[in-house]
Amino acid sequence: MTNSPNPPRPKRQLWNFTPSLPLQVAPYWDWPMRPLASALYLLKSWNPLAQRFFILLMATVVWMWFTPDLDEAKTLAFGWIFDIWLRDLVILLVIAGGLHLALWKYRVQEDDYRYDMRPMMTDARAFTFKTQVWDNMFWTLGPALLFITFWEALMWYAYANGWARMITFDSNPLWFVVLILLIPICAGFHFYWLHRLIHVGKLYAWVHSWHHRNINTGPWSGLAMHPVESFFLLFDTMIFFLIPANPLHVLFLIFHHLIGAPTSHAGFENVKIGKAKLPMGDFFHQLHHRFFDCNYGTWETPWDQWFNTFHDGTDAGNDLIKDRRRKIWSND
Ligand SMILES: [Zn+2]
Ligand SMILES: [Zn+2]
Repeated sequence: MTNSPNPPRPKRQLWNFTPSLPLQVAPYWDWPMRPLASALYLLKSWNPLAQRFFILLMATVVWMWFTPDLDEAKTLAFGWIFDIWLRDLVILLVIAGGLHLALWKYRVQEDDYRYDMRPMMTDARAFTFKTQVWDNMFWTLGPALLFITFWEALMWYAYANGWARMITFDSNPLWFVVLILLIPICAGFHFYWLHRLIHVGKLYAWVHSWHHRNINTGPWSGLAMHPVESFFLLFDTMIFFLIPANPLHVLFLIFHHLIGAPTSHAGFENVKIGKAKLPMGDFFHQLHHRFFDCNYGTWETPWDQWFNTFHDGTDAGNDLIKDRRRKIWSND
């Protein structure tokens, strides 16, 4: 028996931490249907410690105390629109800024639950100001925040002037609750198709490649993108021109982006608070940042599985994506 001249090199460890693998995605779209498993999964996604619940809570607090008066919103005026911008600025500074300071600057939990050990990049010409964090903050607090304010203000103006049909919990309690359950899935559907589109050809080169400069991501990376992308990211809000809803639903959907994008890009699976841990990052999307051609949607959308771009985080998943890429290139 002879030794191979090139003994296999030990595999580089890709991740410092991963959730348990293979990743499990929602069974909502399985065929034959799995109603019980789907109901349990849905229930789990609403666990009060999970982010969805927090986003709804934030939407409720904002709806009750930090929104413009509908009477005031009947006419376009700087004051009430500026109030929305300011409130969202505070939310971003507290959530994205707070997470960045705790996890990346002061490293309060060191590398516990951190996915990727690569640091935020500095002295890198690809980034505005040559620094990933400054770049990310600039594109978030500049155009992204402005567009988020635009879409929200448009909806207030539409409700105030009767362009969109408004319901209340009292007028239609069942639809009110069902819509809350449907909104995260709607957001995922819109996100998949927009995201898939801007991965094609020139659109990728001109627009979406900006977001992908973040190979490893931090909280400020979530909304750091080309202004064309941050404008259309919230186009899903337009669904409220088609379906009757309440401003609370609008805020819940918008906060999936305003809050959900920074948290899902945090780069850490959990944030430790004493002995407790709060779920934070989204490994499904972290895989997209690392391997590009996979996981375009969310764990609640079926498209990645149907179009064979689902990466479950395992080595087999890495091979599947590499194989797919090889086939695409050999067809060119
Ligand atoms: Zn992408
Ligand atoms: Zn991303």
